[in-house]
Amino acid sequence: MRILLIEDEKRLVAFLRKGLREESYAVDSSANGAEGLELARHGEYDLIILDIALPAMDGLTVCREIRAAGLATPVLMLTARDRVEDRVKGLDSGADDYLVKPFAFDELLARIRALLRRQSAVGDELVCGTIRLNLKTHNASRDGRPVELTAREFALLEFLLRHPDEVISRSRIADHVWNFPYDSESNVIDVFVNRLRSKLDPDHDYLTTIRGEGYRISRVHSTDDE
Ligand code: CA
Repeated sequence: MRILLIEDEKRLVAFLRKGLREESYAVDSSANGAEGLELARHGEYDLIILDIALPAMDGLTVCREIRAAGLATPVLMLTARDRVEDRVKGLDSGADDYLVKPFAFDELLARIRALLRRQSAVGDELVCGTIRLNLKTHNASRDGRPVELTAREFALLEFLLRHPDEVISRSRIADHVWNFPYDSESNVIDVFVNRLRSKLDPDHDYLTTIRGEGYRISRVHSTDDE
């Protein structure tokens, strides 16, 4: 999952970047509203964390512009003031949720999970056929049998499960799961996909390789194109 953080408090940015990365989120950040808006428009983000008081363009305007551009990306707004008026303004500008500073990191994580869940999951679980992934406990299972995943494998599986039946290119995986630009010379993604597949889907029932394009996780069993 790739998060855009638009916040100008340096220490908070450093803290959030580190904490979110430890939770397997890919994070981009910007310290001013105008630049943040450009990133939001041109990047593909799963969620945006947006401060209200920002240089160049305030968060409320950024949020209105994001919605005016037709982007439905969930926006979690950060505000330093807890006044009803501020919360109403934030939600009216198109934000999905807000958090008052200072906040506990665990609460931020819970809000992020809730917003991402609204998009595609039922409860705390992502399900594809007999594959289940619990977003809270990080437990994965296949046919009711637990499967041990590393943090990176979890992030990869989560990304695929959030986009079922879609062909996902290696560069999108690199962008959302690895947080670095795709290098077509490297086979690191294929290595990880194969490792995930050997643990979870050795017979290629769900996870298909689409030659020259990428990977797809399908809700109905499919024959592999490999
Ligand atoms: Ca600020």
